[in-house]
Amino acid sequence: MAIIAPSSAADRYDVIVVGSGAAGGQAAYTLTMDGARVLMIEAGRNYDPRSETPMFQANDAAPLRGMGTPDKPFGFYDATAGGGWTVPGEPYTNASSEEGRAFTWWRPRMLGGRTNHWGRISLRNGPYDFKPRSRDGLGLDWPIGYEDVAPYYDKVEMLIGVCGSNSGLENTPDSPEGCLLPPPKARIGELLVRQRGRKLGIPVIPIRRAVLTRLLDHRTIPARLHPGNTKAQRVLAEDMQSRAACFWATPCGRGCSIRANYQSTTVHLPPALATGNLDILPNAMVREVTLDAGGKAAGVAYVDKATGLEHRASARAVVLAAGACETVRLLLNSKSSRFPDGLANSSGLVGKYIMDTVGADWGGHIPLLENLPPLNEDGAGGEHVYSPWWLYGEQRAGRLGFARGYHVEIGTGRQMPGAYEGYAPDPGGRTSFGPGLKEDARRYFGSFVSLTGRGEMIPNADSFCEIDPSVVDKWGIPVLRFHWKWSEHEIRQAAHMQRTFADWIEAMGGVNLRAPDPDGRKAIVPGGSVIHEVGGAIMGSAPSNSVTNPWSQAWDVRNLFVADGGVFASNADKNPTLTIMALAWRTADRILEEMRKGNI
Ligand SMILES: Cc1cc2nc3c(=O)[nH]c(=O)nc-3n(C[C@H](O)[C@H](O)[C@H](O)COP(=O)(O)OP(=O)(O)OC[C@H]3O[C@@H](n4cnc5c(N)ncnc54)[C@H](O)[C@@H]3O)c2cc1C
Ligand code: SF4
Repeated sequence: MAIIAPSSAADRYDVIVVGSGAAGGQAAYTLTMDGARVLMIEAGRNYDPRSETPMFQANDAAPLRGMGTPDKPFGFYDATAGGGWTVPGEPYTNASSEEGRAFTWWRPRMLGGRTNHWGRISLRNGPYDFKPRSRDGLGLDWPIGYEDVAPYYDKVEMLIGVCGSNSGLENTPDSPEGCLLPPPKARIGELLVRQRGRKLGIPVIPIRRAVLTRLLDHRTIPARLHPGNTKAQRVLAEDMQSRAACFWATPCGRGCSIRANYQSTTVHLPPALATGNLDILPNAMVREVTLDAGGKAAGVAYVDKATGLEHRASARAVVLAAGACETVRLLLNSKSSRFPDGLANSSGLVGKYIMDTVGADWGGHIPLLENLPPLNEDGAGGEHVYSPWWLYGEQRAGRLGFARGYHVEIGTGRQMPGAYEGYAPDPGGRTSFGPGLKEDARRYFGSFVSLTGRGEMIPNADSFCEIDPSVVDKWGIPVLRFHWKWSEHEIRQAAHMQRTFADWIEAMGGVNLRAPDPDGRKAIVPGGSVIHEVGGAIMGSAPSNSVTNPWSQAWDVRNLFVADGGVFASNADKNPTLTIMALAWRTADRILEEMRKGNI
């Protein structure tokens, strides 16, 4: 089994997985390791990071010196080989043109999806994050708790390799012994941020990132992950030995050909393929889930993008892992006489409660960090430290004026500069040339600190997506129309971020690059732009209040599962992908159990 064309697909599989990113990769890995025969269908092209990753290229060898373009929004060398903010022939629409009411949608179109270039920040949700409504009366509780997901966080961390440490801080879960790899050392600027943060009561701790700071233990981990399954243990042990540890030198956003960080294409798919149980069909756009006479999922109908022809594939179960909003689109486009409002939509909640992460950015110039000696601070991709939310007490006491917290991602250091990097702080519009420019470069390079807030959004009734009544994509498939609104909680949270960050820059003896905006509407980034889309097919305790049950299994269609962030009932400040993978593993276990019992 391998990368296939429609003509080589088998007549029937155990499971069809739609999408190959974090969710699809994890689901396919777990299923195939346990012996299920899986067809993965991916709308984007095949992509092999081992041969395609531009790890060492210099910016001056790239067109426009590597600058971003519409088809390469994160720069010429970014790993995105298909997809972006706009996808030719695949529009989407927004219902409102009012400021702040648009959702901006990043869509990958390549094997591995967004995991080829994601930031790899891998935080666990804490116990509070699964029961937010019980704590403050807002939003929705999940039907599961931290204790249900914790064993799967353990497994995912051991499988993909996450570095970091245990802090014991409130709602910031520790990992059991053997799950984490050691964190990299903090950079000089990060040490200063930590020292001055302490004065303001803000903790700064090692970040958790899916980067191998040392080799994974192939002697013990496979047996812990696949007890009693000797084939899976052998396949995984062999695969782990072909992953190298990080050599601290290249931007992770380009991908990692030595497989030292997590991408679906380097971590999930190779062992899944090695089981012989996985067929991957790239360049195939799934249009709808098909049904059998009894109303169960029969498989999917998809368009072969190479020929434009439509095909069908069939299986005992279907897993949707297309990214939260694409999964919503698939469900709503799967209409039939039995399900006239779309599949799994008897609650009317498909498309409702979509969420992103609250974001506000800040930066300052820190004279203390000027004229650092030349040193290599490239490190493991992005920041080595971050601040988990620290004001739970203040919030409980009602002193903040908004619900839910944010964490802070900290940017410092003398990493390899990007194209057109500016060195001078230029407070008075000063520009330097010749020897003065070189002097300024040595003086100012590395003397800037960025602080990025990433906060929880509470699901609200004004943020949802639906099928646009008149617009279709180039294959005639109806597209999504978005409705979006931040609530006052998110807006006040963004203003709080900027105020706090400005104080923090001053505590470092620094100069803020602008004044904080007291109006959070100006501070908050547009909905969707943090690219943490979740919700739209939420899990819940009953068919009336949710799309799936606590196992991400559609209430209305027993052999249909949602493995991506669509099932999130809230979007904690923690970046979502580790939770997506943990839930996808849990869902795959459920499918295996249901198949063993003959329920599906
Ligand atoms: C620049 C960037 C940085 C990020 N940093 C972080 C971070 O540090 N930490 C974090 O937790 N998250 C981060 N994220 C978010 C993270 O990438 C996503 O949460 C994660 O990839 C979601 O996984 P997924 O499998 O649900 O979706 P995706 O990775 O988007 O994969 C979905 C796949 O489904 C395919 N697909 C869609 N529709 C169809 C269809 N109809 N038929 C067939 N295939 C289809 C797509 O082509 C795609 O390959 C970042 C994202 C970006 C873009
Ligand atoms: S920094 Fe490390 S993990 Fe990231 S791309 Fe380079 S070698 Fe790979």
